[in-house]
Amino acid sequence: MNVLLPASLEEACDLLAEHRAVPVAGGTDLLVEWPQQLDAHRRTYLDLSALEAELRPHRLSDEALVLGALTTYWDVLQDPAVRRAFPLLACAARQVGAIQIQARGTWAGNVANASPAADGVPVLMAYDAVLELASRDGVELVPLASFYRGYKDMRRRPEQLIRSIRLPRRRYDLQWFEKVGSRRAQAITKVGAAVTRSAAGWRVVANSVAPTVCRCPSVERLLANETPIAGPADLLPALRRDVSPIDDLRSTAAYRERVLARVLYWGLRDACPWFR
Ligand SMILES: Cc1cc2nc3c(=O)[nH]c(=O)nc-3n(C[C@H](O)[C@H](O)[C@H](O)COP(=O)(O)OP(=O)(O)OC[C@H]3O[C@@H](n4cnc5c(N)ncnc54)[C@H](O)[C@@H]3O)c2cc1C
Repeated sequence: MNVLLPASLEEACDLLAEHRAVPVAGGTDLLVEWPQQLDAHRRTYLDLSALEAELRPHRLSDEALVLGALTTYWDVLQDPAVRRAFPLLACAARQVGAIQIQARGTWAGNVANASPAADGVPVLMAYDAVLELASRDGVELVPLASFYRGYKDMRRRPEQLIRSIRLPRRRYDLQWFEKVGSRRAQAITKVGAAVTRSAAGWRVVANSVAPTVCRCPSVERLLANETPIAGPADLLPALRRDVSPIDDLRSTAAYRERVLARVLYWGLRDACPWFR
């Protein structure tokens, strides 16, 4: 195993371009794979830990919240101003693993690991997060909603690092998050959703129901049009256009679809008078 230890972001980008190394942030996704994946032992890793001063701080201004590449869930949970401005970040962070994982795991690692069950990604997407991808050639801005192209397939080139995640600051009149798992902590999501409503419109994002965390544009249109909804079943035709759940060891596709419709219906009912 080769480990590269850059002392600056610039050096990190140079090393990444030269070695096509695997970035390591908190290591909570990467190191779980180690015992089974022997080929992982032969790779070259880019350890970002010496860049904490540059990459860990987050900044909240009147315009935006900017999370650094090494900002952890715990950093967000510890900041009352961020919790107030972006409450769904705290809701999701509290339900990632348990405290040990929240203290090490980063938002950027959650995004770059590209799991369809990721819990940080839905709330970031519901807040219209934009990724700043840095490389030796410069910086590229990519909206998180268009970052995933398919299962574990991203618009991030191997020489690019996520340098930060920017969330525009808006006035929201609805912010809602739900994670359904087999227990309250240390559980991989069976079905999850994050919903926001602002002047920019509805954002409905679901996880564990498609090859990637995804927006649900048909459901968003249904909500924007205030289409009367008499019960969870009325959401199903739109949901079926947006998501494609699978059967796996945690749940069946039918369970995921039905539970997603139910949590959305009951979660949004009080805020939507056209839900009966
Ligand atoms: C016990 C346990 C419980 C967990 N529970 C949950 C849970 O409830 N919900 C959930 O969503 N996740 C969970 N996870 C997964 C994991 O903790 C999160 O996905 C975490 O956010 C990953 O962040 P990290 O910093 O540890 O990433 P790492 O493991 O360091 O990296 C993950 C991936 O991202 C890449 N990467 C990291 N940083 C960058 C960067 N700046 N630029 C480009 N690529 C980068 C790495 O190369 C790697 O491919 C759990 C993990 C464990 C071990």
